[in-house]
Amino acid sequence: NLAPLRRALLSVSDKTGLVDLAKALDARGVELLSTGGSAQALRDAGVPVKDVSEVTGFPEMMDGRVKTLHPKVHGGLLALRDNDDHVAAMFEHDIKAIDLLVVNLYPFEATVAKGADYDTCIENIDIGGPAMIRAAAKNHSFVTTVVDVEDYDALLVELDENDGQTSLRFRQKMAQVAYARTGAYDAAVSTWMAGAIGEETPRRRVFAGTLAQPLRYGENPHQGAAFYRDGSNRPGIALAEQLQGKELSYNNINDTDAAFELVSEFLPRDGFACAIIKHANPCGVATGATLKEAYQKAFDCDRTSAFGGIVALNSTLDGDTAEAISEIFTEVVIAPGVDQAAKDIFAKKKNLRLLMTPGLANTAEPGTAWKQVSGGILVQNRDNGQIDLNDLKIVTKVAPTDDQMRDLLFAWKVAKHVKSNAIVYVKDGATVGVGAGQMSRVDSALIAAKKAERMAETLGLAEPLTKGSAVASDAFFPFADGLMEAAAAGAACVIQPGGSMRDDEVIAAADEAGLAMVLTGMRHFRH
Ligand code: 5GP
Repeated sequence: NLAPLRRALLSVSDKTGLVDLAKALDARGVELLSTGGSAQALRDAGVPVKDVSEVTGFPEMMDGRVKTLHPKVHGGLLALRDNDDHVAAMFEHDIKAIDLLVVNLYPFEATVAKGADYDTCIENIDIGGPAMIRAAAKNHSFVTTVVDVEDYDALLVELDENDGQTSLRFRQKMAQVAYARTGAYDAAVSTWMAGAIGEETPRRRVFAGTLAQPLRYGENPHQGAAFYRDGSNRPGIALAEQLQGKELSYNNINDTDAAFELVSEFLPRDGFACAIIKHANPCGVATGATLKEAYQKAFDCDRTSAFGGIVALNSTLDGDTAEAISEIFTEVVIAPGVDQAAKDIFAKKKNLRLLMTPGLANTAEPGTAWKQVSGGILVQNRDNGQIDLNDLKIVTKVAPTDDQMRDLLFAWKVAKHVKSNAIVYVKDGATVGVGAGQMSRVDSALIAAKKAERMAETLGLAEPLTKGSAVASDAFFPFADGLMEAAAAGAACVIQPGGSMRDDEVIAAADEAGLAMVLTGMRHFRH
């Protein structure tokens, strides 16, 4: 057992809770050392404190770049108290042991998030803080390291329960957190730098996250899981506020992300939009004159699959829409706003998880996407590809009408969010058939058409809504067969990337069938 804590060094950028902690340590007879701003805050509060510069015999210098980088500090943190040589060195050089280190770092991540310029970001890279944290955490047999304000209370409880010391277990846990913090800090610096200097594929790359939420289980109940934030301030699932309902599951988070990213393709100024997701694929997407109409049109694409789905909306959720959504079982609803009437209606649906985000995601924004494979991580730029009318090339004798062009672009936006092979039929601003995740493009076209037939029966329509529809294919048709399947389902116009060796054959088949076809020159595989 260690002797009670005698000396602590407090050096924090975020001064939250500092004075209370210092007072509590002082009351337990702990001598306090501190750096400029932290020492000032303590003096202002009347807490006795000694300046680190007094200990080191050096002033803080170079705009604070050098404050604590000194053997009197690092020796005090690193010395093994039970090693005769270390103790002799301390004695010889008049180094006094530091038993507790409380540090939080220059706010580098927050500085980047604010959009600060290059030099300001550089100046916000903490050097002495991480050095002390790494030293103290290495010496956790003797030294306690605290890097999070939220651990201050636990520290005091430890001191009370262990006669003025901490338990080894606590020091180990704090050391583990400490290295996660310095690791994440340097990861943030490196990631920022890659962007700042325009290095798209750096030779070395690190990822770091902070725990947002432990999850009850993963994709399946026998898999442990947790949700981490990557520190970006992108509106979306990670920044969503849960207004009601049970805890989100792993699959909820995955599906809700897919739903929200998809609906964010539709800007509110272009109208109301709704996306319903099941197993990360859309089973209905629509725009409408009202949000309720958008929901109902999306629902009518595939009512069976919509049961137990995730609903994402591009505008503030209102009471009418909430009422319509309430009619069937829905797992999650996510929207960039929720009005009081909608809140009241959902309050009766205790199980429904309601999420509100700070705005829509910017789907054109650059970013990084990564995916785990055995023994490695695949990294790519996120698919932020966008096209508009000017990018389209009409390749058939017949050109699409303006209305058809609108539906084609709509279908294209949806296809981007459907697992490959993706075939999406659209009529009047609503999906009417979605074929997802098939190994053959022909099968995707067939399945989507079959589902549309089934929905026509449910809705009591004379013919499936694929009749006269616009169809999108996420990648080119390698042969004419997939296109012919879409034509057989009644599609009148087609949007696809083009670029196949057999484009000529495919275009000839489209002409033969009287279809209008446009090429995007851009592919949207999604796996
Ligand atoms: P204060 O507000 O007390 O003046 O400064 C506290 C901050 O300084 C903490 O975030 C701490 O990590 C950082 N810090 C402590 N020593 C050094 C050092 O030697 N160099 C640099 N760059 N930062 C330090």
